[in-house]
Amino acid sequence: MTDQLTGRLLGNDLGILDARAVTGLAALDRIAAARLDGGSMDCGSGLLLLLTRRMRELKAGDGLLVRTEDASVPADLVDWSRLAGHEIAGQTEQDDTGAWHVLVRRGIPADPTTATTTAAPSAAGDPAQAAAEFSTGEATPIGHRLWLYSNFHCNLACDYCCAMSSPAAPPQLFPVELASHVLDEFVRLGGREVYVTGGEPFLHPQIGELVAAATAVAPTTILTNAMVVQRGARRAVLESMDRERVRLQISLDSADPGRHDQCRGKGSHAKAVAGIRTALELGFRVRITATWYADEPAEGASWARLCDEWGIPDEDRLIRPVARQGVATAGEQVTVDSLAPEPTVTASGVWWHPVAVTDPAMQVADRPAPLAPAFDTIRDTVAVQDAARKEGRRHVFRCA
Ligand code: SF4
Repeated sequence: MTDQLTGRLLGNDLGILDARAVTGLAALDRIAAARLDGGSMDCGSGLLLLLTRRMRELKAGDGLLVRTEDASVPADLVDWSRLAGHEIAGQTEQDDTGAWHVLVRRGIPADPTTATTTAAPSAAGDPAQAAAEFSTGEATPIGHRLWLYSNFHCNLACDYCCAMSSPAAPPQLFPVELASHVLDEFVRLGGREVYVTGGEPFLHPQIGELVAAATAVAPTTILTNAMVVQRGARRAVLESMDRERVRLQISLDSADPGRHDQCRGKGSHAKAVAGIRTALELGFRVRITATWYADEPAEGASWARLCDEWGIPDEDRLIRPVARQGVATAGEQVTVDSLAPEPTVTASGVWWHPVAVTDPAMQVADRPAPLAPAFDTIRDTVAVQDAARKEGRRHVFRCA
């Protein structure tokens, strides 16, 4: 493999080098158009998205010099380059700092619109998870659905919160004007549905305006614990929302108050049930969501009876696994390889999936707008995953 890497190159617009010259860092550095320090990341722990983002900034033929301290990366870059249509232009031996340097030359960009979303099966679609009573479903085509984090603070501090939300969390409010801008672009790109989540969205001081901006472009679902809308100004905001365009997705982990409260805080079950009843009385379509650890005793039957009592149809019931993200110390391990993408915007950028907005390895862009390049980065990544799957490999890269 090393011979292949170091011996190849390069009668092209990167310059003419012989095999021995290519092994020298100075030579690679001279012809590189850009540099990326991957540190100790491997391709399963964040480097994949970072590489895809940086390569998209280059012209065809330009080289990206990747520094890595992870021994798996030089070999993985060979596979990734081949699948992504790039070329390994040279590599150094391990240097005194323990790092390798690999020069990747950008190939002709593929048409990202040919990518599908079948590359990474969703966690919910895993047969093993289905056996544990988790809901299943098809991956959503990239660009159809947008998740928007309205804020990160919350009245609760659940022990599995993927967003690290709590009353003390920095709010990171999504500005309404920026939301309008992002949503306008989303619908121009073919967007069909919006999910507003947090934190607790009803703590956003302008949640009414923000949701109105979303419903102006697409049907909108608000994920809420339904505990802060019973009275006062927030109740008024809820009552003002469009019943035709707004659905409420309310968390209720169990029919058993003790089990729900164990993860979400004492008294939270009673308030959530009251919130669900209020939402139904106000005429909202309500979806009930339970979040479970895989090894918890199944309580689907009693939970389903409660949903029956409220007249919640099957398509509005969702049981999902805890993701080991945020403050969760157990649950399902999720990576770019294992999660079907669901583009998600926060005030600080675009992310691969809403359960992974505290994971730097899952960040697709460091600004929430424009969306188009972020969607293209995701499509590029999925295209490589698709190509790897066609070769019969479940994972393109070694995972952490
Ligand atoms: S899981 Fe939901 S309700 Fe619980 S702390 Fe996180 S955002 Fe709040």
